[in-house]
Amino acid sequence: MNSITALITFVSISGVLNALMGLYAATTKTHFSGNRAFIGVSATATLYIFGFAMELASSTLSEVQLWTLVEYMGIAFCPPFSLLLVMHYTAMEKWLNRKVSLALFVIPMVSLALIATNDQHHLFYRSIYWREGSPFPTTDVVMGEWYIIQGGYTFGCLLLAALILMRQWRKTPVYRKQVMAMLIGNLLPIVTSFLYLVGLTPYGIDAVPFVLAVTSASYIWAIRSTGMLDIAPIAREYIFESMRDGVIVLDPLDRLVDYNRAAQRIIPVLCTPHLGLTLDKLQALETGGKNLLSCLNPSELEGGQRIRWEQADGVQHYDVYISPVLNRTGTMVGRMFTLFDVTETAFGEERLRYLATHDGLTQILSRTFFLEQADQLHRICLQEGKDFSLVLLDVDHFKQVNDRFGHFAGDRALTHVVRVCERHLGDGALFARYGGEEFVAALPGMNLATAFKLAEAIRKDLEESPLPWNETLIPVTGSFGVAMAHSDMDTLSDLLHMADKALYQAKEGGRNCIRTAVT
Ligand code: GH3
Ligand code: MG
Ligand code: MG
Repeated sequence: MNSITALITFVSISGVLNALMGLYAATTKTHFSGNRAFIGVSATATLYIFGFAMELASSTLSEVQLWTLVEYMGIAFCPPFSLLLVMHYTAMEKWLNRKVSLALFVIPMVSLALIATNDQHHLFYRSIYWREGSPFPTTDVVMGEWYIIQGGYTFGCLLLAALILMRQWRKTPVYRKQVMAMLIGNLLPIVTSFLYLVGLTPYGIDAVPFVLAVTSASYIWAIRSTGMLDIAPIAREYIFESMRDGVIVLDPLDRLVDYNRAAQRIIPVLCTPHLGLTLDKLQALETGGKNLLSCLNPSELEGGQRIRWEQADGVQHYDVYISPVLNRTGTMVGRMFTLFDVTETAFGEERLRYLATHDGLTQILSRTFFLEQADQLHRICLQEGKDFSLVLLDVDHFKQVNDRFGHFAGDRALTHVVRVCERHLGDGALFARYGGEEFVAALPGMNLATAFKLAEAIRKDLEESPLPWNETLIPVTGSFGVAMAHSDMDTLSDLLHMADKALYQAKEGGRNCIRTAVT
């Protein structure tokens, strides 16, 4: 095989690879919006390569000119298609309307027209002639004015595409393999054609068609290995970035690989310069109130975790889940944290819990919740050998308050009683509305005498604090029954029963007084 046949064979392989790549893209079902641009790149690269091969095989200048025209259908159109592909790939569609896309092809169309009519004006090639001293027949050209414009445009498109890809390299670390393949596809022809233009290629031959084989190979590799056409970062950009929920991706060594905008809003320490840092380091970098990352403990997250996060401007709730990130073969390549903002749900749940456990009028504990809690408290006191007392309070002649001043005044009197009681009850006491105008306090750690003193303080305070109502004062007094647990034989309900009996005696004894349970 002589050198020209070898060259033609080699360059044809490059052409076949490009044609296959275009065919693959054309027949693959994909949602990738840049698929047509991708087919355009492959088709024009194929035209370029076959035109070039035929030019090498040509024996007359007019044949050379004919194949140059075919070649330029590729050379001139491939760079804008590449730029379009990269713009689709990096989710820059908002810059791409029909007019812009068409405008990108104006210079290539003019070039093609000028090449076809070059003999009339010599604007593209000033002259074409056989190169001397080459081991095989090859032509040389003297550039015309438009040749320089077309050349500049080619470089401009490819450089712009490369710059966009470099920016993308920083933005999407998990897609770096794909971005790298695209960058190689762009940079190799730029470098090679530069070498060709400054005369550094062997025998002054255009070497771009040869490197296009490497370019296409790297594209095919990218498609096969990372599913470039199937899962383009377009989807990533739109879905990942517009998600309401925060997503953070860590590699198997717990280094930060990726995160979305929602995650960054919640956790400001997530930023491009911190990519690659370990979770520990990122947690250490968090300062001030915004330290949600420090609340994440991967070992505790298996079944999800609710994080209550207090900030200066309010409380926020997040449900955090951790899940493995698997590659196509099922190998774990990282872990993903998903942060769901459940603040509204949590507030709703909190509100429901509050309503279920509190009395709507007085906002103190409800009877059912009190019984549950007091029972536990009673048991703990028994176990720890501590005293435990109960005070039951019933408002005296309350029916008369309702009858004389109305139900609304009655309601006010009940909240008044509660506020007075609260002035005397310590933090350890459990205080609840036991019934209509009956209240109960569980007093852990208090013996009968102390509980009596406390009841007396409340009684006196109530007696001395009538409720102001429409320029009059409503006297509000209460009767009290006090009981203390003596041995582990007393259950909470025994104790309540004892206090109730004592309360009855207080009523019998004339009201506005206290009686203690005698055991
Ligand atoms: P005694 O001194 O014997 O306890 O007399 P009393 O009138 O307080 O007792 P009685 O059990 O006869 O009446 C209690 C009244 O409390 C009857 C009921 O209408 C009233 N009451 C119960 N719950 C509420 C409430 O939420 N608001 C108002 N305004 N009244 C209530
Ligand atoms: Mg009553
Ligand atoms: Mg009463």
